[in-house]
Amino acid sequence: MGKSVSLHTLGCKLNYSETSTLAGKFHSNGFNLKEYGEASDIFVLNTCSVTDNADKECRQIIRSVLSRNPETYIIVTGCYAQLQPNEIAEIHGVDLVLGANEKFRLFDYVNGFEKKELSCVFTSPAEEITNLDYAYSSDVESRTRAFLKIQDGCDYNCSFCTIPLARGKSRSLPLNTVIENAKKILDLGYKEIVLTGVNTGDYTYQNGSPKINKLIDILYELEKLNIPRIRISSIEPNLLTDEIIELVSASDSFCNHFHIPLQSGDPETLKLMRRRYNRDFYAGLIHKLNNKIPQLGIGVDVIIGFPGETDERFWNTFRFLEELQVSYLHVFTYSERRNTYAVTLPGRVEMKDRKERSRILRELSNKKKMQFYARNTGIQQKVLFETAKEDDHIYGFTDNYIKVRAPHKPELENSIMEFEISGADTYRFAEGKIL
Ligand code: SF4
Repeated sequence: MGKSVSLHTLGCKLNYSETSTLAGKFHSNGFNLKEYGEASDIFVLNTCSVTDNADKECRQIIRSVLSRNPETYIIVTGCYAQLQPNEIAEIHGVDLVLGANEKFRLFDYVNGFEKKELSCVFTSPAEEITNLDYAYSSDVESRTRAFLKIQDGCDYNCSFCTIPLARGKSRSLPLNTVIENAKKILDLGYKEIVLTGVNTGDYTYQNGSPKINKLIDILYELEKLNIPRIRISSIEPNLLTDEIIELVSASDSFCNHFHIPLQSGDPETLKLMRRRYNRDFYAGLIHKLNNKIPQLGIGVDVIIGFPGETDERFWNTFRFLEELQVSYLHVFTYSERRNTYAVTLPGRVEMKDRKERSRILRELSNKKKMQFYARNTGIQQKVLFETAKEDDHIYGFTDNYIKVRAPHKPELENSIMEFEISGADTYRFAEGKIL
């Protein structure tokens, strides 16, 4: 009987889709796939590097896998493995550490999967990272939505971010590959495709011909496939063009939802973050979007506790967001990362202040959600119901990304229904009825 493997992912949707690709490679090489937590001959951990909790979590997971099954061959890859390979190699029991370039060529680096005393490390410098494998995966919570990778890496140099060091320069999958993968996802029965990348809006591919394909070209091609739902996961504000807005507003396939990182509403902090827009530009964009697409769902990333964030700067961000018509916030607490410009800046914010400010912004996010539910009450929407049943209810998302629930019926699973929101008692989901 073949060897068995289990895989586990930390971090973002892109990591999840890449773990699926790795699982596919093991499967086609004759390995039996096991669930994370089950005993297996090989264990692969795909790591993240967004905060310094990553190393702690990585150690904990490896220790727990080895305590249950000491003979498991341990492979660690992902952003943390690329950035701090030796730190990981020192963890007792780790057999192989693979960087971003080596991740998808795993079978070139190992064949017997025999445990040895010392771990092996294979990484390339950030400027040499060129590997670009396709990837797509199901949402971990449901089988209705699939994440489709179209791009990797980033050429921006936001001062707090290590992603360009962990994933290399921006590079994009050929348009044909993206379309082929989208068709495969549809054949598998998924109703929604979420376009995924590190800097998705920066998609650029030139295939020999003078024509350079940009994100809008992918969107036009995808629209022809009659996909019930396409969501653009996250897009930098300076890359959200009028042409994209026009297409999304006119199309039945594209969801009325954008996730647009802001990071700070304070002009000085934005400059120190080296973001490529100022706060007036951002406010103008949100205004334009709301005018163009009524009921548009808008999510915003914001970082709290960036160096130099005084009370005044924090409240600038708060007031800016309070005024903005957006539907929810993703609040991140700033974490010092090695080899970034931000870590050299003066004005370190105390942890207790970071926590308190995050709490205040999370409360604002809940308020924004409730306001958004109220603006959508009484309006007919399409809901894609998911596959899981919880407390006799089934949950799903509207096109503009409101989580709703209805009494569970098996026929609702993975189907799109007309729905009317009647209100919400909690910011977690809205209630309503199927029409
Ligand atoms: S756009 Fe900025 S925050 Fe986003 S991945 Fe690139 S460098 Fe990091």
